[in-house]
Amino acid sequence: MDPTPFQEVPQSVSTGALPGWLRVDELVREAHARYASEAAGSVADYIPVLAAADPGLFGLAVIDVDGGVHDAGDALHAFSIQSISKMFVYALAIAEHGHAHVRDVVGVNNTGLAFNSLMALELNGGHPMNPMVNAGAIATTALVPGATSAEKWERIREGLSAFAGRQLRMDGEVYRSEAETNDRNRAIGRLLVGYGRLNEDPDEIVDVYTRQCALSVTAHDLAVMGATLADGGVNPVTGDRVVSADVCRDTLAVVASSGLYERSGEWLFEIGLPAKSGVAGGIVAVAPGKGAAAAFSPPLDSAGNSVRGQLAIGHLSRALGLNLFASAPARLEEQP
Ligand code: GLN
Repeated sequence: MDPTPFQEVPQSVSTGALPGWLRVDELVREAHARYASEAAGSVADYIPVLAAADPGLFGLAVIDVDGGVHDAGDALHAFSIQSISKMFVYALAIAEHGHAHVRDVVGVNNTGLAFNSLMALELNGGHPMNPMVNAGAIATTALVPGATSAEKWERIREGLSAFAGRQLRMDGEVYRSEAETNDRNRAIGRLLVGYGRLNEDPDEIVDVYTRQCALSVTAHDLAVMGATLADGGVNPVTGDRVVSADVCRDTLAVVASSGLYERSGEWLFEIGLPAKSGVAGGIVAVAPGKGAAAAFSPPLDSAGNSVRGQLAIGHLSRALGLNLFASAPARLEEQP
């Protein structure tokens, strides 16, 4: 589909507002308390260091587009961003290359398969299909500007730091643990080269991807990063413009279709918000024009999404009226 005819029409926005600070704060506390004792799910163990995570940790954070902050529980506990980096690196790639180029090179459709699937690539003639699973994310990392992999990595670290409004650092232990065991991602890198989808050294690109996944963040950071995408690309805490409003819109569309892997449709049906998860237990959901909610809790469902995180954010989506598909009649029916 050619995007040009749509891009000629100026983009108007359709947004509402969150309730006042006190009400949001009360609901964040309520959602945290309600799911703190939820025991379902298991901690990821295919990256050895992640297996040691404390399953009891649970942080929840909401950042409003006006900069309001709501942190509950372990909202300031550090963990590795993992796959949540994919959405922000994707935003940097679109900012650099534009909507149409990234769409054509990486794709925007859900694969319906696990995040680390090689079959998804084989079934589609080596086309990565979607930037929220590993094949597309590795192809997206290659699109980040930089003459060397060290330059690309620094560009990613700086870019994600601008989203967070503070300097993010890599967790060396997580990086080493994954770098020693990521044969699957290296295989994906080689398959991309084999299909002519990647022109650079695949091991170097996978190394940058592994570093981006090991960036250390908190649920609070993820909420600020998400709120920047909710705020037309301006970080609501620092006031700095990070990306354009068009980049936010494109990124959130892809996150809505694929952010929770093969569970993305179910999530959109139940909760109605773009959301992205990572295997260390982070998850962030974005309500355009309103703000973002993020959680950290290591036990995951079988697709790799934080169980408590999904429950708490789902609760907030309903209570705060964030579902993008919910409406009420414009002319309220007369009371009998
Ligand atoms: N670094 C992880 C990987 O590539 C990220 C996966 C995830 O968070 N789902 O396997």
